[in-house]
Amino acid sequence: MNDEMKSTTIAERVSRRSFLEVGSVALATAAFGGLAAQAQQREDTQKAEGDHSSSNPGQENDVLLHQNPNTNTPPPTDHGDIGPIWYSFDLARKRVEEGGWTHQVTQRELPPSTDLTGVNMRLTAGSFRELHWHTADEWAYMLYGNARVTVLNPDGTVFIDDVGKGDLWYFPAGFPHSIQGLGPDGCEFLLVFDEGLFSEDNTFLISEWVAHTPPEVLSKNSNLGPSDIAKLPKDELYIFPADLPRSLAQDRDAVGGRSVQAAQQYTFKMRAMTPTKKTQGGEVRVVDSHIFSASKHIAAALVTVKPGGMRELHWHPNASEWQFYIAGKGRMTIYMPPGRARTMDFTANDVGFVPAVAGHYIENTGTTDLVFLEMFKADKFEDFSLNNWIRRLPPQMVTSHLNIDEATIRKIPAEKQEVLMR
Ligand code: MN
Ligand code: MN
Repeated sequence: MNDEMKSTTIAERVSRRSFLEVGSVALATAAFGGLAAQAQQREDTQKAEGDHSSSNPGQENDVLLHQNPNTNTPPPTDHGDIGPIWYSFDLARKRVEEGGWTHQVTQRELPPSTDLTGVNMRLTAGSFRELHWHTADEWAYMLYGNARVTVLNPDGTVFIDDVGKGDLWYFPAGFPHSIQGLGPDGCEFLLVFDEGLFSEDNTFLISEWVAHTPPEVLSKNSNLGPSDIAKLPKDELYIFPADLPRSLAQDRDAVGGRSVQAAQQYTFKMRAMTPTKKTQGGEVRVVDSHIFSASKHIAAALVTVKPGGMRELHWHPNASEWQFYIAGKGRMTIYMPPGRARTMDFTANDVGFVPAVAGHYIENTGTTDLVFLEMFKADKFEDFSLNNWIRRLPPQMVTSHLNIDEATIRKIPAEKQEVLMR
């Protein structure tokens, strides 16, 4: 028996039942070198739920504790630190203005998320998110209600459309656009930007530009008289109330009709589309540049996982993943080398983050549908299924790695399910 085998055997003998027992053999196993020490370290952190070692006689924040049981007391398979993977819009300060509000979860709140940033915004009926543009591309999903959006193309054509719950829009960086809440009760939406440090408080605003241009220049540029210029806003508008617009057809006609109408479609009905994949466990709707050509730099999937179902063990080869939880309860474990894993619970209005190419799953831990969005800074949605990978390997190769025989291997689903039900 060589040293490595010896230490493995001793490590295996270490009791998984009692943390105290583990402690008593710590010195003995550590003496057998790296592997045993590693196993020892793992055992030390594997304090199963219910073990007296994890009891907490002191203070607890009951609401957080019950919402995040896996965060508070991780499963024994968790190990080490992979950095922050969770934030909630309900912890993000709201900027409330007359006509609505906004708050954001950026790289400032979730430091590893350098690719994408999210903003959650509410506009009451008639209210505007002021005419503006910015350095990042903007992807949006309507969570509630109705809105009218406009975006101008560099060739002078304009896109005007109405969006409702479950619809998307995509505005490229630098393209000037507007959002207005419609009846009966305005709207709420999620915005996703392809810059980690993007900030909604740092966009280019029409009001600020005219306020910071000498009046004689405005006069020369736009043919405005002194009394016209006196009426212009002196400060940012940002979110502000206004009258409801006329009908979509009337607004389109008012700017010049078909002759100025954009050829590019900037909205997409995501929730209404036929699922990209539908299984017993749920549904996945994938929208990327293949089916929504405007969406060049952000790919997305809308995932529904039924109670008892699970978004299978998988990873994405091309980007980190930024998640927004729309409904239900779930838990996710992310695996990262070397030997690290973190499990956390997620609920509606939470943001999840998966580092690029890290392995993960999302399990429905509630009694209702778990619905969430997966977003990637990429032109296409791509993932690998662990099951599918195992089944595309020669069985002997799998047996060599996982110690399971061919009959057992055949029980593993051969095809990628995306969402599965046991
Ligand atoms: Mn914008
Ligand atoms: Mn994923």
